[in-house]
Amino acid sequence: MLELSTPVQYVKGVGPRIGEVLAGKGIHSVGDLLHYLPFRYEDRLNPRGISELRAGEMATVVGEVRNSGLFRTRSMPIFQLTVGQGRARLRCLWFNATYLQDKFKPGQMIALYGKVEEDQRSHELQIVQPQFEMLGDPTDSGENGAGNAAEKKAAESLEIGRIVPIYEAIGRLTPRWFRKVIRTALDNLTPDLPDPIPAAVRAHLGLISPRAALWNVHWPEPGESFDNLQSSRTPAHIRMIFDELFFVELGLELKRREQKAQTGIAFRLDETVRAAIKKILPFHPTAAQKRVLKEIAADMEKPYPMRRLLQGDVGSGKTIVGFEAAIIAIENGCQVALMAPTEILAQQHYFSARRILENAGYRIVLLTGSLEADRKREVRRHISQGNAQLVIGTHALLEEKVEFARLGLVIVDEQHRFGVLQRLKLMRKSGEGEESGRAALDRTGEGARPRTGPPHTPPAPPAEPDVLVMTATPIPRTLALTLYGDLDLSVLDELPPGRTPIVTRCGADDESPKVWEFVRKQVAAGHQAYVVYPVIAENEESELKAAIKMYRELSGKIFADLKVGLLHGRLDAELKDQVMRMFQRGELQILVATTVIEVGVDVPNATVMVIEHAERFGLAQLHQLRGRIGRGAAKSYCILMTGGKVTEEGQRRLDAMVKTNDGFKIAELDLELRGPGEFFGTRQAGLPSFRVANIIRDAQLLEAAKREAAAVIAGPNDEISSAEISRALVHMRARWQHTYGLVEVG
Ligand code: ADP
Ligand code: MG
Repeated sequence: MLELSTPVQYVKGVGPRIGEVLAGKGIHSVGDLLHYLPFRYEDRLNPRGISELRAGEMATVVGEVRNSGLFRTRSMPIFQLTVGQGRARLRCLWFNATYLQDKFKPGQMIALYGKVEEDQRSHELQIVQPQFEMLGDPTDSGENGAGNAAEKKAAESLEIGRIVPIYEAIGRLTPRWFRKVIRTALDNLTPDLPDPIPAAVRAHLGLISPRAALWNVHWPEPGESFDNLQSSRTPAHIRMIFDELFFVELGLELKRREQKAQTGIAFRLDETVRAAIKKILPFHPTAAQKRVLKEIAADMEKPYPMRRLLQGDVGSGKTIVGFEAAIIAIENGCQVALMAPTEILAQQHYFSARRILENAGYRIVLLTGSLEADRKREVRRHISQGNAQLVIGTHALLEEKVEFARLGLVIVDEQHRFGVLQRLKLMRKSGEGEESGRAALDRTGEGARPRTGPPHTPPAPPAEPDVLVMTATPIPRTLALTLYGDLDLSVLDELPPGRTPIVTRCGADDESPKVWEFVRKQVAAGHQAYVVYPVIAENEESELKAAIKMYRELSGKIFADLKVGLLHGRLDAELKDQVMRMFQRGELQILVATTVIEVGVDVPNATVMVIEHAERFGLAQLHQLRGRIGRGAAKSYCILMTGGKVTEEGQRRLDAMVKTNDGFKIAELDLELRGPGEFFGTRQAGLPSFRVANIIRDAQLLEAAKREAAAVIAGPNDEISSAEISRALVHMRARWQHTYGLVEVG
């Protein structure tokens, strides 16, 4: 008997050599093999009669080989095959397919799958380049050879007279081979297959048993809906997909609950604090900003640590919300760390913090990697002594030894640049690790004094600081649920008033004179412009050279009479800072830049952005870049220039940019185009690699999984026993370790 955990090589027909091939595709155990699902099915129970075929449809045809042969045209050899059913005949063609010569013998049964077309000259129906499978032919049956006649017959019955699963081939392992081996594994699977999902959850979703799911997903019952099969919506598919999502969510829910069980700081939110917040606001907050602040404040008042993700499109006004949260913490006698992904952005936050908060008397420091050693030491001392109330920095805050006297709130801005792993590291820094804020708190517990009036009773250490993660990438909700399932979610879904939508246009390189003319007009009207070059990896020498060359051309020739600046990641920090400040003050009219300006930069007077080689950027990146304009009341223009050939996918990205300004729509499309694994740039984004689930297609199941997982974690109750819960948790831990390969849970 095979267990799900049995190494796959022990399945009859596999063995050590093929076992290695399978391992290369992540199939190590019998369970993995059984999760290798067909990517489509063929209805060979009711295959189409040749005479019923219509042009334009996808069809499976089972027939007999009548004749075949190669004929040469002027341009290429074409292989032609005729199959028959009784008197009906169907022609199939393959281009350049000399390798098919001698493959077919008259009288053989064959299954074909492809698009039916009408031949333009003869008006006969034909299938061009169909997928095909020889039926009952022992020659391509993989390593274990033909076997005896009885076996051959059994194998045949897997091929016709039923709905047949089609697997993606792996090397020389054909779909047919998988069919046989998976069938063998199912036949020999232990009858004892416990269901780790609690009965109540099963009932809520009407889930079938694991055994039935494994059987039916590979070998559907004759009555199964073909549409449901192709769209992975049969009860068997749903069971397997839910299973996978449920245990991911269970892990995340557990983590979330454990975070809530920790001691946090119960900040007080009284009239003094409210008044302090009101005092700094430079404008009326939007309804969304008010709602989100309420959610954050409610978290901060709780005695356990906040773990909240604030999601809002570019320009939705996250910064001020962050500052408001900071005031709550500071007024409670705590320090706040605000982290940004780049120095430029950290500096910008520093300037706006000083503009908005310093008048009110708050003490703000900037700590970045590029500070001189002396200055750094001094800043650190301010922090450890509790003088600094708001500490703004980059990763330096994370990586260098910074001790806070009383760290109460950590704000991480523009999270998408950090990646999830770094986020976890930060969490540890602010509480769980050796060099933690807690350790610092213990040592210098009395260091900090609130700035105003009698201190609110300072919360007793040790306590975990609150964490607010702000992201400008409008993560589609389904992705947020998986990626950040352990965080609570707030959404800023409203832009501040007075914005006019950005007009986006696409143009080819040869239109650049017109584009520069347009830029010139905008500048003449008192506005500023960005010209962005694709130096996407800042260490790409050749890309950088191209950008610098264009800068020379623009500053020296095309805009010789204007003030043009250059900003890229390799400039030293002081220079970067200087350039940025000049642009901010309007002393530069045009800023030639690389993607260093992608995040956060806020110059409302800039109304034009020309993006060169726009086809090379990802969709999310284009949207972030475009977010640098349209920040003031004046109408803004984004011009996407393309150089050379644009791929079909590239064109879809550009079209999407022209069509919409809505970050959520763009993110959805981006997710669709790139797939969840690539969405965050790298695989290590921390996204579990699912075997059967697809978070785009299965969004609803994901929501259900989250809801059910939360209920289970909150249990036991009269529906769910504690034995069931512990069984589910044991299973979940094993899964996280072996399957999802993620950071530890729980
Ligand atoms: P992001 O969410 O992209 O970080 P910012 O916080 O930088 O957005 O805000 C974008 C711009 O909108 C800033 O210039 C900011 O001052 C302004 N802003 C934010 N909220 C409001 C508001 N409620 N009313 C008017 N302007 C606002
Ligand atoms: Mg921002």
